[in-house]
Amino acid sequence: MSKVTVAKFGGTSVADAEAMRRCAAIVTQTANTRVVVLSASSGVTNLLVDLARGTLSAAEQEIHLKKLKSIQDNILTELGNPSPLRETIDSILKEIADMARQANQNSDAALEDRLVAQGELMSTRLFTEMMNQLGHKAVWFDVRKIMRTDSRFGRATPAIEAIHNLAQQDMAPLLKDHIVITQGFIGANADGQTTTLGRGGSDFSAALLAEALGVDELEIWTDVPGIYTTDPRLVKEAHPIPEITFSEAAEMATFGAKVLHPATLQPAVRKGIPVFVGSSKDPAAGGTWVRESTESSPLFRAVALRRNQILLTLHSPNMLHACGFLAQVFTILAKHGISVDLITTSEVSVAITLDQTGSQSSGRSVLNETVLAELNAFCKVKVENDLALVALIGNRMSEVNGVGTQVFDAVSEHNVRMICYGASTHNLCFLVPESDASLVVQKLHQRLLGH
Ligand code: ASP
Ligand code: MG
Repeated sequence: MSKVTVAKFGGTSVADAEAMRRCAAIVTQTANTRVVVLSASSGVTNLLVDLARGTLSAAEQEIHLKKLKSIQDNILTELGNPSPLRETIDSILKEIADMARQANQNSDAALEDRLVAQGELMSTRLFTEMMNQLGHKAVWFDVRKIMRTDSRFGRATPAIEAIHNLAQQDMAPLLKDHIVITQGFIGANADGQTTTLGRGGSDFSAALLAEALGVDELEIWTDVPGIYTTDPRLVKEAHPIPEITFSEAAEMATFGAKVLHPATLQPAVRKGIPVFVGSSKDPAAGGTWVRESTESSPLFRAVALRRNQILLTLHSPNMLHACGFLAQVFTILAKHGISVDLITTSEVSVAITLDQTGSQSSGRSVLNETVLAELNAFCKVKVENDLALVALIGNRMSEVNGVGTQVFDAVSEHNVRMICYGASTHNLCFLVPESDASLVVQKLHQRLLGH
């Protein structure tokens, strides 16, 4: 077969029939696109997450179910209400209502995942029908057959080797004659129970499938034409970056640029698969190519911002000259599946920020009473919330003289905390008060990335 591309479309790209038609046009403009990975239609996962929490009143539940139905009905109507799709969607909606009621009585993580997974199951059914109506040989594929994960419901870890073997066995043979339409975000454990990869996980799904199938390119279609130098809603002068390396893009995704789910690039890096990021609303606008190496490697490439950071300061006199204090802290956090982000230390305290990106599908905070109690048992813990993390992304940043002066000069009027610099040559980051965050990003962009 010639070149093969996996294309992933996000929630806004499949929000309604009109948006879906644009996706169909993108998929079919080249013969290479053989696998299409979809998110749930915009808003659907949020509605399902609310239902899955099991805390809505009966009246609120009804409103949520009505909204879900109307999103599906609008697309179905555009498609001419065909059978048996109409019945399939109705039965999924009925199942959602049943599960929502069950969640209100006794919610558990497995049920939550089964419920939130329904959004992708519906959007892919609808899109397959649309493609078939347009005369393309599209086939619906239940990704749970091949997207094997562990059983950590809400944020499951994919089993790379199993996914490879299953994809080669069950999906690869279909690509010769079909365009395969499948779900992002969802998977299944070895017992066949539905799992999810965490909010925004569809990008990650697409990359995992691209890796497993060994394809040539991965396209991530979203609602912005590529990766920008910073969030254009914050800075008017922000501009799309035509080409960026895997390392820089991974730092950006991790440190708050919303375009890509932070884990997306790992599979692409492992297999060296170039990733294109573009807008399904405006494919002609071009986009960003993420690759192993790029022609230019500027000192400053972008500024990323991540809000709502949790800063924990742990203080203990026992830390003085002690061995193993940090090990104890990390053991507790690891036991609860909490990943540490930034870390700085002083004589008797250590400050850490917790990574909330890609948090559980349920949206629950990573920090809970149990963790805090366990930490409090051997040190004093202070928790602060009103902080934002600003990250400058670039190249050779820790190897060039004067980077610190340039950066901190630009933000000299702000209280900067927890500076992390040097662990990677691609990133310098720090915390600022939430209320200063936008201004700090604007100043950095103007000084270091303005044209
Ligand atoms: N539908 C899921 C979410 O909204 C996954 C995704 O869109 O990537 O989080
Ligand atoms: Mg998305």
